[in-house]
Parts: sequence; structure tokens; C-alpha cells
Amino acid sequence: MLFLVLFIVVVYSLLYTVILKDQERELEEMAAQEARIFESYLVQNNYRSLQGIQNQELVLAGVDQFFYYVVNPKGELIMGDEKVPELRQDLFTLLGGWDPQRKEIRQETLHATYSEWRPKAKGKGMDDELRSPPQHHEIQLMIASRPIFYKGQLIGMLYIGKDISFAYQLFKLLLIILAGLAILFSGVALYMSHLMSKKAMVPITRAFTRQREFVADASHELRTPLSVMLSSIDAMEMTVDTEEDDFSRKLLVNMRNEVKRMTKLVSDLLTLARSDSGTIERVNETFDFRPPAQKAIQSVEPLAAAKQIKLHLSAPEAMVVNGDPERLTQLLYILLDNGIKYTPNGGDVYLALSVESYEHRLVMCIQVKDTGIGIKPEDYARIFDRFYRSDKARTRKMGGHGLGLSIAKWIVETHGGTIQVSSEIGKGSTFTIRIPFSSNTKKA
Ligand code: ADP
Repeated sequence: MLFLVLFIVVVYSLLYTVILKDQERELEEMAAQEARIFESYLVQNNYRSLQGIQNQELVLAGVDQFFYYVVNPKGELIMGDEKVPELRQDLFTLLGGWDPQRKEIRQETLHATYSEWRPKAKGKGMDDELRSPPQHHEIQLMIASRPIFYKGQLIGMLYIGKDISFAYQLFKLLLIILAGLAILFSGVALYMSHLMSKKAMVPITRAFTRQREFVADASHELRTPLSVMLSSIDAMEMTVDTEEDDFSRKLLVNMRNEVKRMTKLVSDLLTLARSDSGTIERVNETFDFRPPAQKAIQSVEPLAAAKQIKLHLSAPEAMVVNGDPERLTQLLYILLDNGIKYTPNGGDVYLALSVESYEHRLVMCIQVKDTGIGIKPEDYARIFDRFYRSDKARTRKMGGHGLGLSIAKWIVETHGGTIQVSSEIGKGSTFTIRIPFSSNTKKA
């Protein structure tokens, strides 16, 4: 497209210059020729001044010539003719202020209103021409001047004007055609590139889909052996006398923790793989969000109690919202779990739910605030990336693998909402989620 534009600019400028130069050359030749005719006429008739030939018959007229004037050094018109006699005054005004010594070519635009002579339709009378009603005309003139010498002395000036309006009409037409072509070719180029990029994307999309399917299948397949391992650990704990065999007890506790961690990782991976392939259908129900929020608080209570963290819930008595109850509850678990994980012993974690009205729409607002370690501002955007952990060593110890917030973000986005984080290092973090919903959905 860039080359096309460049090509058009070059072609247009080239034609513009060539045509105008050609017109200039023709005008120069015409002016020189007519000045010569004039000078030889003066010599033949032995006139010493231009005044002497006033009102003499001397026809000077070239093709496309719009006017010619012969002016004496005092600026008085000696001879002249023009295509449109009404314009003599206007033309004279245009010529005013020219330095008669210099040969120069000028371009001027003349705006004038006059009526033209038009050939009359056949058989209408004796006159074969008719005057049209006055019309506005924009005439592009190219004007040349030539000094007239008699025996080496400057005795006057010849001005010749050529109507080059046709050239400007040609430029206009050319511009329209070139612009049309540019639009047409740009459209074709865009369409072709769209088609080609689509074709080029086919193998990539296929590979990507296959990879997603692989992750989803692998995660799914891993879940069964993991649950078998967990129940085996349970069975072993029952058979081994853990009170006496301390080593076996420690091994079993480690194994249980690692299997649980892996089960969580596999389950998160499966959720994300399914969200990528769009196989998870979002349920849309009207439900009271307070009971699931209370249940979530109760479920994470043991985790908080282990670190003497106090949990606080603030929600309206009944908070009827619209969305996927399972996913929204999962969102609460992720944020509460993080709040507890990244808050030192004895801290607080707050969960606040509310419904706001914004621009005639209802918005459910979920806020999870903690008094924990905080997040660096440069990490605000990255913490929602998969497998991103700001402090890898620390978060691994805490059991995190960097998928929780990616799932949270996905849940919020499928609900058409936004998730924001604000934090202060050492003081705590606040995650705010806003999800617009409509109140008229029927209860599922
Ligand atoms: P993880 O399983 O590691 O917690 P997440 O995706 O939930 O993974 O979080 C990504 C990273 O964001 C975490 O590793 C942690 O560094 C940071 N983070 C998340 N929540 C908090 C919080 N409440 N306070 C401090 N840092 C947090």
C-alpha cells in the first residue's frame, strides 16, 4: 500500500510537471514569435514608437490564446484582444505591477462572471450564435511577457495569456482516478492479505488447539492416579503406627501435602485449558451471594486460624446477583486463600460484598483486603499471568504455583467485569472486582 501511494504521488507529480512545462514552452514560443512579428512590423513601417501603430491592423493570435496586450512604457494599452471582452479590466488588473524588463511566466486564477456565445440550434433564425445566461468561471491563466525593442531600445511590452484550465481539469480528473485506484487496490490488498493470513494461521491454530487438548487431556488423566495415591496414603496412615514410627509419619505427611498440591495444580490447569478451548459453559443464575460467601469464609477458617488471622465478612442481608454461582464462589476462594497466604500471623483479611448502581446498571462489587506483605506496583499487571509469582522461593513454600489469579481473571472476564489491585508494601493489598449484571434474569 505504501508503494502504491508512492507510485501515485510520483506519477501525479511527474504528469503535473510535464504538462505544465509543456504549456510553458508553448507559451514562450508563442510570445517570442509574436514579439518578433511585432518588431518586424515596426521596422517595415518605420514606426519609432508604439503610439504610431495604434489602431493598425495587426493580427496576433495563437492557438489557445486567451488574450494579448501591447502596452507602451507608460502603461497605456496600444493594441490588444481577448476571448471575452468583458474581462479586459480584470485582466489588466492582473497584469498590474509586472516588471516589464524581465521575461517571466506567471500563473494566475481569474474568477469572473460573464455570458458565453453559444452556437444556436439549427433552423432557429438568421443568427447562428446565442448568448448564454451569465455564469461564474474560474479560469487558470498562464501569462508570459516580452519586451519589444525598436533599434535596440525598449519601446513597450507584449503580454500573452493562455487558458490552461483544461490542464487543471485534467489534474483533477487524474487525482480522482488515482485516488479511486488507490482505494480499490488497497481494498484488494487488504482482502488478499486477510485471506492469506487466515490460510497461514490454519496450521498454527491447529497446533495450538492440539496443544490445548493435550493439556486438558493430560490434566484429566492425571486426576485419577492422584486420587488413588491420596486414598492409598489414607490407607497407609491407618495401617502404619505413626506414633511409634516418626519417620514414616513425616514421609506420609509430606506425601499427602505434595499429592494435594499436585491435585490442585492439575485441577487449575484443567480449568485453564478448558477455559482456553471455550468448553466451559458459563451458567447464568440469579442467586443470593451471601450464603456461598459465608461458606467460603468457613472453609478457609482453619487456614486462617492456623496463622491467627481474623476473617471479616461484610455483606448485605440478602445480596441477590446474577452470574455463575460456582465460578464466583471459586473466585472468593482464590482471593481469600491468597489473602491468608500472603498475610503474616495475626493479621486480618476482609471480604466485602455490595451491589452498586452505575449508569442505570447494577454492579456487584467484591472486595478482598488483607494486611499482608503487599505487592510491588511493577507486579500489578503481571500477577494475573499464568505461573507468575513475584517471589518464587517464598510463594512455593506457601504452596502457590501462580495460577490462582489467572483463573480469577478469567472468571471475572467471562462475567464481563473488571479486577483491580491496589497495594502498599508491608501494609496489605486490596483486590476489587466489579461485575455488571441485569436484575431481570429468571431464577434458574
Ligand atoms: P499463587 O498460587 O502463587 O498465589 P496467584 O496467581 O494466586 O498464584 O498469585 C500470583 C502472585 O501474586 C503470587 O505469587 C503473589 O506473589 C502475588 N499475590 C497474590 N495475591 C497476593 C496478596 N493478597 N498479597 C500479596 N501478594 C499476592
